[in-house]
Amino acid sequence: MRILVTGGAGFIGSHLIDYLMAQGHRVIAVDNFLSGKKANIARHFHNPNFKFIKHDISLPLNAKLGPLDQIYNLACPASPLQYQVNPLKTWQTNVFGTGLMLELARKNSARLLQASTSEVYGDPKEHPQKESYFGNVNPLGDRSCYDEGKRAAETLCYIYRAKYKTDVKIARIFNTYGPRMIFSDGRALPNFIKQALTNEPLTIFGSGRQTRSLMYIDDLILGLVKLMNRPNFFGPVNLGNPNQEINILALAKKTIKLCHSKSQLKFQALPEDDPIKRRPAIALAKKTLGWSPGVSLEQGLKATIKDFKARLNNPAAK
Ligand code: NAD
Ligand code: UDP
Repeated sequence: MRILVTGGAGFIGSHLIDYLMAQGHRVIAVDNFLSGKKANIARHFHNPNFKFIKHDISLPLNAKLGPLDQIYNLACPASPLQYQVNPLKTWQTNVFGTGLMLELARKNSARLLQASTSEVYGDPKEHPQKESYFGNVNPLGDRSCYDEGKRAAETLCYIYRAKYKTDVKIARIFNTYGPRMIFSDGRALPNFIKQALTNEPLTIFGSGRQTRSLMYIDDLILGLVKLMNRPNFFGPVNLGNPNQEINILALAKKTIKLCHSKSQLKFQALPEDDPIKRRPAIALAKKTLGWSPGVSLEQGLKATIKDFKARLNNPAAK
């Protein structure tokens, strides 16, 4: 198949491209390197089945793409630190960018998978979060550019499906981690691993009692591909690991232990609208996709720490 991956140079996008290339597909990656890196996809540059286009998806894409079978729309910074640098661009990427990608899917009769997020549930009043939950999102806060942008993108998917019968799928992705997350990403795990490996204090926001459910990248990639290839199913469907809910303080301590680090903890203010609890209900993914995550937190953390160690010891990667 001919597959377009937006956000292809990012953390999830580059792992997805590795998977799709290994399956023998022809892949076109689009990215503006806002939070992604060339190094993540450099291994494919000499492969004739791979093409890269540097482009901001919130603007019209005029390049000749040829016919497309599938579009994975992943472009958007995912870390609160990164998506708040330019909130207007974050919102435009989600709304204008998703609109333009849906139009491309419609014109090509291609299938589009939209990378949505657990953030559409905001600071949830329902725990665990089922797909039927409408969420508790503040439209007027620092996280709103991302949360409301992703909610509007879901609405656009709904409209294209209803009005044009575009074959769209929505994945609500919960916190995912793994190798290749950038050191300056700002999310809890990359911060903790980098801090632990350099014996710096681990920064805990608030009391550290807030929870997240952490999914390893390999589990997510299988879920995304299964969803994309599942006919007659729009979703939205949660993709996350309900078995790995952990509070942030415990996560920091676990990271220190696995890194054999001498780091201490440093407590800082909790950012505005930071969700207190998060755990996916994944019955729908199990039933419709036959998917559930299998990598334990211990296994996933060890693999991620190994990758961070290797990059920290390599001046070029640093
Ligand atoms: P990431 O920041 O590593 O990757 C995002 C990629 O999109 C980067 O390469 C960035 O340069 C690119 N990008 C950003 N804006 C762009 C634009 N306007 N035009 C073109 N490219 C642009 O983040 P990630 O963790 O790989 O997340 C990928 C997608 O998955 C995002 O849409 C994110 O919202 C979603 N998601 C991720 C998680 C997670 O835990 N990682 C959770 C929920 C949802
Ligand atoms: N967090 C933290 N220290 C950090 C980075 C994040 O305590 O250095 C907290 C953050 O406030 C949140 C949780 O860890 O409560 C997860 O944050 P992350 O940015 O990884 O994901 P998100 O909040 O988007 O789920």
